[in-house]
Parts: sequence; C-alpha cells; structure tokens
Amino acid sequence: MSNPLLQSFDTAPFSKIKNEHFKPAFLQAIEDARAEIDAITKNTDAPTFENTIEALEFSGQQLDRVSSVFFNLNSAETNEEIQKIAQEVSPLLSEFSNDITLNEALFKRIKAVYDQKNELDLTVEQDTLLDKKYKSFSRNGANLPDDKKKRLREIDTELSKLKLKFGENVLAETNAYELHITNEKDLDGMPEGEKEAAAQMAKAKDKEGWLVTLDYPSYIPFMKYAKNRELRKKLSLAFGSKGFHGNAYDNQENVLKIANLRHERAILLGYPSHAHFVLEERMAETPEKVYEFLNELLIKAKPAAEREFNQLEEFAKELDGIDHLQKWDGSYYAEKLKQKLFDLDDEKLKPYFKLENVIAGVFKVAEKLFGLKFTEVYDIDTYHEEVKTFCITDEKGNFISLFYADFHPRPGKRGGAWMTSFKPQYVKDGENVRPHISNVCNFTRSTPSKPSLLTFNEVTTLFHEFGHGLHGMLANTTYPSLSGTSVYWDFVELPSQVMENWCYEKEALELFAKHYETGETIPMELITKIKESATFHEGMATLRQLSFGLLDMSWHGADPSNIKDVKSHETEAFKGTQLYPDTPETCMSTAFSHIFQGGYSSGYYSYKWAEVLDADAFAYFKEKGIFNKEIATKFKENVLSKGGTEKPMVLYKRFRGAEPKVEALLERAGLL
Ligand SMILES: [Zn+2]
Repeated sequence: MSNPLLQSFDTAPFSKIKNEHFKPAFLQAIEDARAEIDAITKNTDAPTFENTIEALEFSGQQLDRVSSVFFNLNSAETNEEIQKIAQEVSPLLSEFSNDITLNEALFKRIKAVYDQKNELDLTVEQDTLLDKKYKSFSRNGANLPDDKKKRLREIDTELSKLKLKFGENVLAETNAYELHITNEKDLDGMPEGEKEAAAQMAKAKDKEGWLVTLDYPSYIPFMKYAKNRELRKKLSLAFGSKGFHGNAYDNQENVLKIANLRHERAILLGYPSHAHFVLEERMAETPEKVYEFLNELLIKAKPAAEREFNQLEEFAKELDGIDHLQKWDGSYYAEKLKQKLFDLDDEKLKPYFKLENVIAGVFKVAEKLFGLKFTEVYDIDTYHEEVKTFCITDEKGNFISLFYADFHPRPGKRGGAWMTSFKPQYVKDGENVRPHISNVCNFTRSTPSKPSLLTFNEVTTLFHEFGHGLHGMLANTTYPSLSGTSVYWDFVELPSQVMENWCYEKEALELFAKHYETGETIPMELITKIKESATFHEGMATLRQLSFGLLDMSWHGADPSNIKDVKSHETEAFKGTQLYPDTPETCMSTAFSHIFQGGYSSGYYSYKWAEVLDADAFAYFKEKGIFNKEIATKFKENVLSKGGTEKPMVLYKRFRGAEPKVEALLERAGLL
C-alpha cells in the first residue's frame, strides 16, 4: 500500500512519487486491467451493452492514470532513469493492448452486441461507443478467416519494419551531409546568431569555420538569409534528394513496398484502397471528398499563387538580375520582400506581449466567450515548482476543470508546445468527473532585468494550445474514450486553430497587448501589419500544402501496383501545383516521413482541412461579433463539450448551420 500510484488519487501526487514506484505500478495496473477483461469474457450472462461495451470502456482506468502521469512526466520533466523505465514499460503496454485486440472471446461478445445494435435502443453516444469498440477489432482483422488473419499479421510486421527502415534512411542521409564553409564571405546575409550557431556546430566537430546541415534549425536560416546562390543551390539539392541517391540508404524500393502492402492490407479488410480504410475514421470520410476538397482549393488559390510567384521573380530580377527563380531562391527573396513590405520583426512586437499579460488575456477571452473564471491555486501538487495551477469555474461557480500550465524550457522537457491531461472527464455512477488539463510550452524565460516577453508566434502558440485545453476542460460526455480531444484526426485542430484568430483582432488585443514598461496598448498600425504579414505569400504556401496532399493521395488513393518509378509518378502527381522548375536530382517521396514513416498517410490534407474549419467557424464569430455569447455558446455546446460522441460533420453543422466552405479560408488569406 505504500505505492502512491496504486492508491486512488484525485490530483496526481507528484511529490510522493519516486521513480521506483513506476514499474511496479505499471505491472500491477496491467494485471488488474487483465483481470477486468477476464471478468468480461468469463461472464456467463449473455453479452449486453452494459456488461461488455461499457465494462470494457471503464476497464484499465488505473492503468490509464499511471500512464498519463508517467508519460506526461517523460515529456515535460524527464531524466535518464525515467527514459529507461519508458523503454521497459512500452513493450509491456503494447503487448497488453495487442492481447486485447487479438482476444477472440472478447471480440465475440462485442460482435454479439454489435449485431443486435438496432434493437438495443442506445443513445447517440452509446451507439458511437459501440461502433468505435467494434471497429477497433474489425479494422485489425478480427472478422477475417485464419489464413487471412495470418497474412494481415505478416503485413503489419513487414510494414512496421519498412517504416522504421524508411525513417532510419532519412536520418542517415540527413546526418551524412554537411556544408562546410571556411570563407566567412559565404555566410554573407546571415544574422549574427545564425552564424554563431554554424560556428558552434563546426567547433563541436573539431572543424575550422562553419557548418550547415540538413536539420531544419540549420537548413532554414541558410536558405532564408545566405546571399551565396551557388551554396543555396547545393544545400537545397542535398535537402531534396534524401533517400534518392541509389546508395544503401535509398528509399525508392521502400516507398513502393509500403504503398503496395498498405493497399493489400486494405483489400484484405474489404476496402478499395488504403485511403478508403484511413478516411473511414475521418471527417472527410472518402478519398473522393478529399480530392474534391484539394482540387477546389487548388483552382481557387492557383491564380494568387502565380501572381505571387511572378511578383517574387520580378523582385529577384530587380534586386540581383535573376532571370528564372529556382527552388533555392524562394525563401531568400521572399524574406527580403517581406522585410521591404512590412518591416516587422519580433523585437518590435515583444514588449507588448509579456507572458503574464498574454495568460491573463487568454483567460479573459475564455471568460468573455464561455463564462469561465480562472483562479490561481497554490495547494496542488506539481512536478516542478515552475508549474502553475488554476481552478476553473463556470458562471454559477461550479467546478469545471483543473488547469496546469508549464511555460518555460528546462533540460528535461522536450521541445515544442502541447496540451495533455492528467485525468479525463467522464460520467460514472451519476457523478460528472471533471478533467485535469495541462498546457506545456517552451517560452522565453524572464531575466533579472526583463520579464518573459513572447514573440508573436509564441502568443499564437499559447492561444492554440489553450484552445486544445478548452476542448478538454469543457468536455461533457459519459465515456472517457469519447471525451474532450478524442475526436477524428481532421477535427481535432478546430478548437485550437480557431482560438488563434483572436490574436489578430483589435478588440481582443486591446484586452492584453500592453507595453510591459509604459502600459501603452499595442498601436493599430502594428495590428494591421501583423494581419497583413500573416497572409504574405499565402497563395504559394497553399499550393505547396496542396501538392503534398495530392502526392499523399496519389500513393494511397488507388492501387499502386502499376507504379514502377517513384520519381516519374511523383512528377505526374505534382503536375498542376508546381511553380518552380523541376530538378531531376530531387525526390520528395523518398524523404516524405509524414506519410511513409509517421501516421499521416492519406491524412496530409487535414492541415488545410483544419484551416478551412477554423476560418469558417471564425467567420461566423466575425459576422456576429467576436465576443458574441450566443455563437460562443453554440460552439461550446455543439463542439467543445461533445468530444467524439457524434460524427464531426454533424456536430459542426449543428454549430454553424452548414458545412464548412473553403471560401472562408480563401477570404481570410486574401486569396479571393
Ligand atoms: Zn494543435
């Protein structure tokens, strides 16, 4: 009984937890969860929604809580010991979840309930839950005869090896390349900080001068600022040809194999293509809909993209006599043009965005929209002294959620910004259990002479993660696996992205964007510049995103067995979206990790999809007033509180009165 993780707790008991508590807690919680599953399968009563689906839904809760405490710590406050434990427990957890998916007795009971679902008189949420549980088995082959089941396992094993290999090759190719510079003149145009970083990198490898690599933090600034066109070309070609050198790290074979195995898997499970399989659980639903969406945007954004491209080419010609703009010129001249047009840099904006003011601002926005009240509390156990805790209540004073906020970088924290939770929301035995939500970021820390001042990008990040946070805080569902952010992938960014819109509005900025020394409200002129520069080259950026989405669909939307050559397939897929001349020595697919290694296959479109959703949703607010209570309440009641209890399009239409339209995005982006 001395392990705090194995006792029931409300807020996570961080100060009592020692590293040695984790492994035993995991082992015990897994054992308990297994016993709970056994109790379901050994039940001699006929399968019902309650004794099977609901029982499964509420099984393993202790394990979920131990996992969330542990993995949140591993992201935000880790150390070697925790990382070692993560390596030990991860295989145990995947073994446990595989055992559930392959549990035939369990599936038999779920199927029995599923087959009589029309007679069961289920609520909408129960219906969704039943469907979700059933699909988590059927989509993994539970309905297949043994020989096909066996083939499915072989494909899965093979695919996970190939994906791993794909990623290793990209990494090896990235690491194998470096641009070694010994003449300082070759760094002309680079800001001092970037030069220093390049010098540091050389020094770390015992080399003279400067090093530039294919890692983003090194690659991007060089392409953006370095005057030397030949070197930009060299670096750009190296970047664009990863996995395409015909050497041991070549990914062409892997791309073809992955696409074909995914197709075979989809066919086995009864879907026409991998994209059909994936999209069944997305808001877009079908490949046809995705193609229609991408092509509609393409037709409407292309004229603007071409205009921007021609303008950029003109500008490059004027400035340096460049006749034909190439891929390696794009970011360089775009940066110059942007400077010329807007003359806006972070240093000018930062004084208006003191962290404490921005936090107060986002709380104020949430209060005006949703009637939430945030009170800082000091008696909640945290994993680090820098973590702040807030109690959130509604207008009537009801407790809504606990909110942890962890804003600054530390050695044990991974990069980026994210929302997570320590406890989900659900209703059990008549009690609405409220969630514990957390935002973790890596914002510039204060110094003895200056408070923490955020860049504008950090401000929108804070609003973004807080938007995910609201999705969690305002959750109001019965089942934890349908609660909060547990929604389809192409819907989950709506609450976060829509919140970013308030950062560009005078009415909202006036609430919090005040100079940290003078208290002066941010001048209108700066607000206008922020807005205009935000849509700079939006046409070209859109075309680029569409080209990736179309390439993704070209690999996964139809039978790939006739594709013999990766590069020529790609060239075909890129037709219609290319602005720059093609370079035969480069290939995107062989390093397109998002879709061939990560989870974005048939999902790349969702970046743009989510933008359309948030633009369309915010257009509604703009129309009625950005702090209009009625619209905010509709958004809360139909989207934020509903989680994944119903199909996202149904929820969205209930909020908006219609399906989202791409025009809203085009208009916001100034492309109409
Ligand atoms: Zn997000």
